[in-house]
Amino acid sequence: AKWVYAFGDGKAEGKSQMRELLGGKGANLAEMSNLGLPVPPGFTITTEVCTYYYAHDKQYPPELKAQVDEALAKVGALTGRTFGDAKSPLLVSVRSGARASMPGMMDTVLNLGLNDATVAALAESAGDPRFAYDSYRRFITMYSNVVLGVEHHAFEEALEHYKERKGVELDTELGAEDWKTLIQTYKKIVRDEHGSDFPQEPQDQLWGAIGAVFDSWMIPRAKKYRELNSIPESWGTAVNVQAMVFGNMGDTSATGVAFTRNPSTGERALYGEFLINAQGEDVVAGIRTPQDITEKARIEAKSDRPSMETAMPESFAELTRIYGILEKHYRDMQDMEFTIESGKLWMLQTRNGKRTAKAALKIAVDLASEGLITQEEAILRVEPGALDQLLHPTIDPKAERKVIASGLPASPGAATGEIVFNSEAAEACRKAERKCILVRIETSPEDIHGMHASEGILTTRGGMTSHAAVVARGMGKPCVSGVGSIRIDYKAQTLSVGGQTLKAGDKITIDGSTGQVLLGEVKMLEPELSGDFATLMGWADAHRTMKVRTNADTPTDAHTARNFGAEGIGLCRTEHMFFEGDRIVAVREMILADDTEGRRAALAKILPYQRQDFVELFKIMSGLPVTIRLLDPPLHEFLPHTDAEVQEVVAATGVAEDKIRHRMRELSEFNPMLGFRGCRLAIAFPEIAEMQARAIFEAAVQAAEETGSPVTSEVMVPLVFTRAEFDIVKARIDAMAKAVSEEKGATLAYQVGTMIELPRAALKAGEIAETAEFFSFGTNDLTQTALGISRDDAATFLGPYTQKGILPSDPFVTIDQDGVGELVRIGVERGRKVRSGLKLGICGEHGGDPASIGFCQEVGLDYVSCSPYRVPIARLAAAQAAL
Ligand code: ADP
Ligand code: MG
Ligand code: MG
Repeated sequence: AKWVYAFGDGKAEGKSQMRELLGGKGANLAEMSNLGLPVPPGFTITTEVCTYYYAHDKQYPPELKAQVDEALAKVGALTGRTFGDAKSPLLVSVRSGARASMPGMMDTVLNLGLNDATVAALAESAGDPRFAYDSYRRFITMYSNVVLGVEHHAFEEALEHYKERKGVELDTELGAEDWKTLIQTYKKIVRDEHGSDFPQEPQDQLWGAIGAVFDSWMIPRAKKYRELNSIPESWGTAVNVQAMVFGNMGDTSATGVAFTRNPSTGERALYGEFLINAQGEDVVAGIRTPQDITEKARIEAKSDRPSMETAMPESFAELTRIYGILEKHYRDMQDMEFTIESGKLWMLQTRNGKRTAKAALKIAVDLASEGLITQEEAILRVEPGALDQLLHPTIDPKAERKVIASGLPASPGAATGEIVFNSEAAEACRKAERKCILVRIETSPEDIHGMHASEGILTTRGGMTSHAAVVARGMGKPCVSGVGSIRIDYKAQTLSVGGQTLKAGDKITIDGSTGQVLLGEVKMLEPELSGDFATLMGWADAHRTMKVRTNADTPTDAHTARNFGAEGIGLCRTEHMFFEGDRIVAVREMILADDTEGRRAALAKILPYQRQDFVELFKIMSGLPVTIRLLDPPLHEFLPHTDAEVQEVVAATGVAEDKIRHRMRELSEFNPMLGFRGCRLAIAFPEIAEMQARAIFEAAVQAAEETGSPVTSEVMVPLVFTRAEFDIVKARIDAMAKAVSEEKGATLAYQVGTMIELPRAALKAGEIAETAEFFSFGTNDLTQTALGISRDDAATFLGPYTQKGILPSDPFVTIDQDGVGELVRIGVERGRKVRSGLKLGICGEHGGDPASIGFCQEVGLDYVSCSPYRVPIARLAAAQAAL
């Protein structure tokens, strides 16, 4: 079998389509070679080797060694060097590369092949001993850390001590002899910490590094990243072995990272950072603060350090030429890594760049306008869930800003929270339902969980491509990086800036769009929904076939949803209206009444409130359908719970306390979810449904009069499992419609339908559709009843189900297509067979989940209904589902 694929010198055995086999990095290195771009030669050990390795107790396929040797010889031939040769040694990097990019998760080893002999050869051939010994000490620390598990700080401490003794501050002030001395110290550290000598044999180094890459696939932080990003463990990683080029060979050498468009804003301009006389890891790790690539960016950042454009104009021109080629070729924004060795530019990586939602939107719209991609592709380029980032607040420009510091605008959006200095504290805050900002000198992959738990991230070191910045953008959290003026004291749990000191728990606000750090809480603004957002949404609307409605119970919700483009209300839960103001008193009176008469009297007090609620909703949704569900929850939810509340009811209703307590006992249930609720209420107390129907129809007449446009109301009966139940309730509703229409002398356009939220209802959908005019799949209850899992109790045991792969995802987030989905399918088929025009929708949480929306399209629903903030997400997801 073929386990190794070579690249370099204008050709390659692989190509970009082979990312499953070669990993993203390997496939794109091959592709860049094929495009004739300058790529140091190398080879990729396939992901199949990783799979083999884990399936065979960490053994390699028997043919691997020979294939690696052959590929290594080929690289040597192209570079005129030999791996392990003491005179003209080939040095390589060993780089991991999974199918999906996992930034910073897997470790890279540079300068491999150096030992006490080859370092001397390198010094001689470069004519620069300092460079050679600097490379060697980097290699020892990197290799010892990644492969041998020796902690970084041991080396860092030794370096700090040495510099202190010498009285120098910067690494650059150290010469070859200094590094030689330090290398001896480093080797001793390895011996002490690891128990054996640093490996001198290049072959041992190589296989050690290859094994470490494969092993790193299973380290906790890689697992965590996969879990958060739904990357299957079975994919495995590839290993890339590549000839080294040196960015640390002096002032005509450099290393950098660049995006073909701005990853925060999407602006069409080369964007990035570089460091002169440095190796790649220096930029990514955020240890030195890098310089801008373009002059424009330098001016905007008010930096006094020269840009690459002025400092290295020829390399800049070459980079500009290459990025044009890459963007045309990949038809997407690229994130590139490059190194300049003595004035010659080499490409080390390219991939579709991660970007903020705002940038994703702008880039998709721009690329379509530039003719590089089609409108359909543009729609597919934006992940619906990511729109969430754009729908959330930014700092009100008019608000007073007490700016205490500024850094780089690393990830847009604004957030307020209390200061926490580590990930554990962030998690504790989140558990206590408090908002926090994670404040760190810099972040590492160990901080992922803390970043998740916080509202935003602030770092005092690092650039736009530092770990914190990259990860925050991926998560859609605001981030300000490189705030050099802030000093953090982890021990004292304080930060100090400009003479003031803040402690953990103090509130700050960060603005990831400007890079500002502000004192205290600041007023936020609703997001801007015009421009690119409106353009893409327009394209999405033109391509989708399902309608998108909203679940809205209040005028505020309805307004928000309509602004977001909702095409009606798919679910209005009337019970929410029962709790407001003094209505609850009348509701309780109704529940406590002894007989129908008493109930009617109490209901008569609720009627005007309900009618007014509906008038408002109808007016906001003018011209669009509004589905109103009859009272659904068990009545005891409305009764008082505490002693004080009981006293309040006594005072308000005049009903005796023991009677109230008696009724409370009567109404209490062992399992309310499966108890006296839904249409069962309307069957036992038809007067409740009648009052609600009257309120709906009177409101419809009034709203139509006031707005001049007709109202389409859809009355929805909850929790039906047989047609007989539905028919009883429907008869009351129809009678009320007739009555109101006669009283008002108006004709009413309305439909009566039902929720399909019990398995039996899905099975008997054919029968129910004989009289029901629409179905709305209530997939929350349908999931609870189909799986026999109470949603409110699931948290304690459902976790392992997704972790162990028993279920592909949380069935309350993404619809369980196999089981619950089958019930939906049955409901759709049997319902439509009987009534061809049956209107079908979904109103569970799933209506706003992109993956579930795809399913809704597949089974042929007419619309999805979701919470207001998810409406744009649903519009885009529905368009993607239709394409
Ligand atoms: P990551 O996946 O974490 O970005 P990479 O494998 O891309 O890791 O390596 C990180 C950096 O190391 C690269 O951006 C590059 O600057 C440097 N690097 C990797 N391979 C080489 C090489 N052959 N020559 C010079 N620098 C290299
Ligand atoms: Mg990289
Ligand atoms: Mg329900």
